[in-house]
Amino acid sequence: MLLTKSYDYIFTGAGCAGMSLLMRLISSGLISGKRVLLTDRDEKTRNDRTWCFWEKGEGFFEPVVYRNWKSIGFFSSDYNAQMEIAPYCYKMIRGADFYQYCFNEFNKHPNIEFITGEVNFINSGNSFQLYLDNSIIDTSGSIVFNSIYEPSPPTAKTLHVLQHFKGWLIKSATDVFDPGKATMMDFRVHQRHGTSFVYVLPFNKREALVEYTLFTPSLLKPEQYDNELKNYLSDFLGITDYSIKDEEFGIIPMTNEKFHFRKNGWQIGTAGGQTKASSGYTFQFIQKQSQAIVDCLLAGKPLESIPSTPGRFRFYDNTLLYILYHGKLPGDKIFSRLFKKNKPRQVLRFLDNESSLAEELKIISTLPTWPFLKAALKQF
Ligand SMILES: Cc1cc2nc3c(=O)[nH]c(=O)nc-3n(C[C@H](O)[C@H](O)[C@H](O)COP(=O)(O)OP(=O)(O)OC[C@H]3O[C@@H](n4cnc5c(N)ncnc54)[C@H](O)[C@@H]3O)c2cc1C
Repeated sequence: MLLTKSYDYIFTGAGCAGMSLLMRLISSGLISGKRVLLTDRDEKTRNDRTWCFWEKGEGFFEPVVYRNWKSIGFFSSDYNAQMEIAPYCYKMIRGADFYQYCFNEFNKHPNIEFITGEVNFINSGNSFQLYLDNSIIDTSGSIVFNSIYEPSPPTAKTLHVLQHFKGWLIKSATDVFDPGKATMMDFRVHQRHGTSFVYVLPFNKREALVEYTLFTPSLLKPEQYDNELKNYLSDFLGITDYSIKDEEFGIIPMTNEKFHFRKNGWQIGTAGGQTKASSGYTFQFIQKQSQAIVDCLLAGKPLESIPSTPGRFRFYDNTLLYILYHGKLPGDKIFSRLFKKNKPRQVLRFLDNESSLAEELKIISTLPTWPFLKAALKQF
């Protein structure tokens, strides 16, 4: 069946990237008088994820920031520090709050239609047909923004590392947390499964989100994540009397796969290569990509003119990914060196792809030379 309606903007995928971009299009006035279709297989009402990121000052989604911290901890067998990160602030947004906030705005605009359904693209050559459930959507005259991620077929050089994590929102029977201090990475947990750390986001003296995270090629058994969380709480935080109020499980793809901005329409979010291959952080890259798209449309320029991530940052990410994937150096040692030998704000700027070449050379010089040099040569 062909849906007879046509749209100016079509969003396939209404997650972080789809909603971030649509919110920015609304705020810039670009959707007034336009017909907009937003689609997702999910209603987007569940708190299906929590986003953490760092930012200077107030951001576009400040109204939904649930907690923020000016001080972040890094712990490992080599280096322990509680670091003030000014001018940055470490922030957390709950998925459910974000979706609700966006829907509240979308509902004010009768020209935005949200339809739940399964999206499929049928490609032939450079063109595609878009299906929503069993209906074909007319995309002629539409700008399609797609955030549905389909990994490309692997090649001999493709590396896929999974960032997988399980988190518990716990409530302790006694006061144990300092709500002013988050732990960004605690590598003191054993590294037998590969690069593994825990992060702790305290909401108040008794409640915190505690997440056990790994960068490895394969997943653990469900009970293994639970055991590691239980051990961490007792061995490192001294907490044995607590209740679990909520749970989160997630997988973020970390890959050197080549992403194309133009594929099924315009690729945004993780599908558009906005997940940093070496860290999995995505939220802020999505915000930057969304703003770049809005600026481009406002200037009346073609979307092709948006510059892609500078090649040198992809090169650094792929080098680190190669080291992690092939176990050339333990991840805890690399991150320890990074934070021990550099100022936190310099590391954060580097991880944001916002550093200068001179800063990058200084940071790279603090990492073990030979393994990185050999891994770097493998990238050519
Ligand atoms: C649990 C979790 C926690 C994360 N935490 C952080 C973090 O702290 N910081 C950070 O920077 N990044 C984090 N990330 C990574 C990244 O920020 C998120 O994955 C982010 O949501 C990516 O946005 P996106 O729009 O590209 O994808 P999504 O938000 O996943 O949106 C894609 C949408 O497409 C829909 N969809 C998929 N297939 C179909 C289909 N066939 N038909 C219809 N709809 C479909 C999905 O339902 C989804 O709503 C996290 C990821 C996960 C999974």
